[in-house]
Order: sequence, then C-alpha cells, then structure tokens
Amino acid sequence: MIDYSRLPTAAERNISVRVKGAAERALRQGHPWVFEDAILRQSHLGNAGDLAVIYDREKNNFLAVGLYDPLSPIRIKVLQALQPARIHQAFFAEKLKAAQAKRQPLVKEGSTGYRLVYGESDGFPALIIDRYGDTLVMKLYTTAWLPHLEALIGALEDAVVFDNLVLRLSRALQSDRLNVAKLYGLEDGQQLIGDIGAAPAQFVENGLLFQADVRKGHKTGFFFDQRDNRQKVRELAKGQRVLDVFSYTGGFSVYALDGGARTITALDLSEPALETLKINVENNGFDAKLIDVMAGDAFAGLMQLIQARRKFNMVIVDPPAFANSRASMRKAVMAYRRLVEMALRLLANDGLLVMASCSSRINAEMFFQLVERSALVSGYKLEIIEKTGHGLDHPIAFPEAAYLKALFARVKK
Ligand code: SAH
Repeated sequence: MIDYSRLPTAAERNISVRVKGAAERALRQGHPWVFEDAILRQSHLGNAGDLAVIYDREKNNFLAVGLYDPLSPIRIKVLQALQPARIHQAFFAEKLKAAQAKRQPLVKEGSTGYRLVYGESDGFPALIIDRYGDTLVMKLYTTAWLPHLEALIGALEDAVVFDNLVLRLSRALQSDRLNVAKLYGLEDGQQLIGDIGAAPAQFVENGLLFQADVRKGHKTGFFFDQRDNRQKVRELAKGQRVLDVFSYTGGFSVYALDGGARTITALDLSEPALETLKINVENNGFDAKLIDVMAGDAFAGLMQLIQARRKFNMVIVDPPAFANSRASMRKAVMAYRRLVEMALRLLANDGLLVMASCSSRINAEMFFQLVERSALVSGYKLEIIEKTGHGLDHPIAFPEAAYLKALFARVKK
C-alpha cells in the first residue's frame, strides 16, 4: 500500500525556462532531454518534479513542458513538446493507452509478459512499467516522479487492466543520498496495489511459461528486451549443444530446449537466478537434468570450460551493461573482447555465436565492429547471419533510447 500524504507535492507555480538554440532545435525535433548546461534562464529554483515550461527565446512560444530534476544533469525531462498540455491524470492515461495499443501484436500472439512503458519513448521519462500477467512492475529512475505518483497510478487504474502493482527503485533512488525510503516511505519491491505476497509472478512469452521474482530480481525481474533474440535461438537450436553465458533465469536456455537443443550449459553469477532457471525449465515440461548449471563468474567459468576442452555448437553471451558511463568504456571494450575470444574457443567449427550488448554507451556500429575484429584477431571468420536491435515493446523515439544489439554469426576457423 502507499501513503500518498507522505509524498511531496509539485509547486503550484511552474518554472519558466529559456534554453540555448541547439536545445531549442533538439526539442522541436522531439528530443526529450534538456541538460543543465543548456539552460540560459529560469524563473526560479524548483524542487524535483515541479513542472518546467520551456518557451522559445524569439517569440516566447511554448516549446515543451517537463519534469524539473535539480539533482540530475538531465535537468528537464520532457513530458510533452510543441502542443501545450495540462499535466494531470487524464494526460497520463492517454499516454498509457497509446503505449498499450503499441503492444497489441504481442498480446494477440498470447504473450502476457512485456514492457508496457519504455521511458521517454512512450512519453514517461526515466520510468518503465513491465507487465507480468496480472502484475505490473513500475520502476522509477528519478525522484521527479514522486509528486506525480498519485496521478500516474490513478491513470494506470483508468487505462490499464491489472491486479497488482509493484514498485521498483533505481540504484540511485535506493542510495542514502536520495533516501526515498526514509523521506517518503517508499521501498524497492514494495507492493503498491494488490498483494502477491512472496509468490513469483508468472507470464507467457512466445508460448513459453516463465516465472520471475519481480520484487528482488534484476531490473524488474525479467529481460523482455531479448524476446525476439530468444525466438531466433529457438529456431536455430535443434540438435545443438548450447552454452548460455550470463543465463540469468534461463530465458535463452528454455527457448533453446524448446527448439530441440541436445544439451544446455547455463552459466551465471546469481544462484537465485539459476534456481529460477531450473523451475522455468521444469514448468515448460523439460527435465532440469538436461541442464548443466554453473554458478560463478562467467570469465572464470569460460576459462574452466576451455581448459576442459569442451565444445558447443551454439554459444550465447548476454552480459550485463559493462559501459553506462564514459569512464567505463575502455574496460567494457576489453571485457567484450575477452568474452568473444573465449566464446570462439568453445565453439565447434561451423558453430553459432550469439553475442549481445546492452551497454548504452557502445552503439551498434561500434559493437558489431568490435566483435568482428576480435574474431579476426583470434583467427576466426564470422559469417554474419543477422544483426538485431530492439523489439516492439522497446520503441526507439530518440537516439539514446537504443541500447540493445545482438549479432548472430556462423563461426569458421
Ligand atoms: N540472458 C538473460 C539476461 C542476462 S542479464 C536473459 O535472457 O534473461 C545479465 C546476467 O549476468 C545477470 O543474470 C547477472 O547475474 C549476470 N552476471 C553479472 N556479472 C556476472 C559475472 N561476472 N559472471 C557471471 N554472471 C554475471
């Protein structure tokens, strides 16, 4: 449950803002971020979640309205551009309906787990909502949403059918610095509506049954962004010996089994995730003994497999985001290189490499080049089968929204 009376309220008076020319142009083109150093003037200092209205400098016309975020370099997170709008429950409900309509193809094919709201690209900056059957999981990445939470949750109840709502908080929101737990009584994993107790959420994806720990699992509990890539793995898995590196709860493993894989080896650091992997395997009618589970660091595990001279026909590598800041880029590139090299050494000739990256700082072109070069340097040739990106529930409304890329390639010695 949630005590709205503890949440902050947005100021009655909006902040009026003027921004630099380049920022004006970006806003006109639909870019949803105004950085702190793009702001020329503002009427007054505000609090997180106050509404900031941006006017153009020449004619004083409305340009955009957004959430003011004094603690973030992305100082204004745009809710609406070009057309003035009142920001209230009905405004959010309309955006939610539009987001839901976009996901209809997934609903039609019987998937009950998907991303319902993908941040800025659906009009909700720094916020995501994932659906797991009857349970929605809302993850906040900024305190600027707190004054609007009541309107937002009201809008969800108006526009979307669900039984339970679980709140997740980004690492920053859980930190002592922002301390939303102490200040506002909001906890990561808190149930805002309904009561699922400690039970995992269940959902169907492409006809397969999964469960997820939506209160404590990574992100919101599952990685819906890999749905289409998992489907491709299913189509390519028949008769193969598959290695699933960074397997988490077994998204790729279950699809591969269903596609007729002969054996699966799954490798992940998280023991609870691997426990869920076994359950997911069994819930789809497979014997968990078909899966060889290795708990531990992927780099060490891969080395161990190389030393044991193991060979696989398909190696899937889906690491966590190594680079989400500029500083971590170099290290990330090194890590990807090492992973590619090790994966290649574990592949039988003519084997299939599936290499994914969700690092937002490494764009698709850089990543594909990096993988292809690493292969070349290690003496392998890659025959590219496909390069993939985002699924339809992760729409890309502006360049920074694109983070996922995956390469499917046949490996020749
Ligand atoms: N392929 C998964 C998602 C992977 S998310 C799917 O389709 O659902 C990244 C995973 O990497 C997480 O499960 C995390 O536990 C794991 N991880 C992070 N660092 C690791 C490391 N050094 N060694 C092994 N696993 C790691």
